[in-house]
Amino acid sequence: MLSKVILQAHIDKVETYFDRADKVVIVTHVSPDGDALGSSLGLYHFLSVHGKTVNVIVPNAFPDFLRWMPGAKDIIRYDKYAEFADKLIAEADVICCLDFNALSRIDRMADAVRDAQGRKVMIDHHLNPEPFCRVTISHPEISSTSELIFRLICRLGCFDDITLEGAECIYTGMMTDTGGFTYNSNNREIYFIISELLSKGIDKDDIYRKVFNTYSEGRLRLMGYVLYEKMQVYPQFRAALICLSKEEQGKFRYVKGDTEGFVNIPLQMKGICFSVFLREDTEKDMIKVSLRSVGAFPCNQVAAEFFNGGGHLNASGGEFYGTMDEAVDLFKQALVKYESLLLKN
Ligand code: 5GP
Ligand code: MN
Repeated sequence: MLSKVILQAHIDKVETYFDRADKVVIVTHVSPDGDALGSSLGLYHFLSVHGKTVNVIVPNAFPDFLRWMPGAKDIIRYDKYAEFADKLIAEADVICCLDFNALSRIDRMADAVRDAQGRKVMIDHHLNPEPFCRVTISHPEISSTSELIFRLICRLGCFDDITLEGAECIYTGMMTDTGGFTYNSNNREIYFIISELLSKGIDKDDIYRKVFNTYSEGRLRLMGYVLYEKMQVYPQFRAALICLSKEEQGKFRYVKGDTEGFVNIPLQMKGICFSVFLREDTEKDMIKVSLRSVGAFPCNQVAAEFFNGGGHLNASGGEFYGTMDEAVDLFKQALVKYESLLLKN
C-alpha cells in the first residue's frame, strides 16, 4: 500500500477540474528530460483514456534517446509552432504544469501560460514553487514528478485506467530522475510502484536499454575526450569541473542529449563530492551549467548564488551569460566560498 502523500483537498480539486474539462494542455520545462516527458506523457495517456482532448507542449527539443516514448511523436514544440501552441494554451480548460516550479523554466511559453484563463495545476518536486497555479501539488521529498503522476492517478481511483503506454512513460521518468534507481531512491514505496507498473506489462530492462544504451558513436568519443582532456580535478576542494566549447561540440557532431550524464561521471572518483559541467549552449547565447553533489553538499545553493539557477540538493542547474573564462572564475570563487562545507561533507 502507498502512503497518501498528496493532500486530499488537492485530489478533490483536480478531480473536479478534470471532470469539467474537455481540453487539457500539459506543459513542461525547457530541454525536457526523462521525468519531464515521462510525467507529461503518463498524464497524457491517462486523460486520453478518459476522452479528453489532451496536448503536450514543450518549449524546445528533447534528446533522441527519449523519442521512442509512446506519445512522443504527438508532442508540440513551442519553438516551432508557437502560434498554434498559444491557441491551445489560451483555449484549454485545464493547464497542467509538470516538473517545474517557476514560469521562467518554460522560457518563451511563460507569457501564454501566465495569461491563460484555464485552471492551472502544478505537479512538481522542486523546492520553492512559485504561486502561479490554482492548485500546487509540490513534493520535493518525492524523487520524480512521474511518481507523483502515478500517485495522483491512483488517488483518483483510476489505477485500472493506466495503460501499458502510460506505465512505460511513468517508469521512464522514475528511472531517469533517480539515475536508474541509484540516487534519491531509498523510499521503499518506489519499488511497490515499480511492481504495479510491471503488472501493466512494462519491460523495465528494455526501457533501461532504450534510454541509457542507445548513444551515438560521437557521444562515446566525446565522453572519452572530455574525461581525458577536459576534466579538471580539485582534490583539495573535493570537486571537479568539465568545460566544453561550441567548437568542441561541433568537432564531435554534437546532438542534443549527447552530454547528458557527463556531469555525474567525476563523482565516481573517491573523495569527489561536487561536480560542475559548463557547456556553451548551441541554441542560446549562454553557458549551460549543470551541478551535481553527493551527500549533504547543497549544489542548488551554488546554482542559485552563482549561476542564476536552482534545483535539487544533489542535482541542479543554471545559466550563465558571459564567457567561459568568467564562468570558470565563478566556479573557483564558489569553491573558496563553500570550502568548509565541501570538506565537511
Ligand atoms: P540538468 O543538469 O540535468 O540540466 O538539471 C538538473 C536539475 O537542475 C533539473 O532537474 C532542474 O531541477 C535543475 N535546473 C537545471 N537547469 C536549471 C535552470 O536553469 N534553472 C533552475 N532554477 N533550475 C535548473
Ligand atoms: Mn523531475
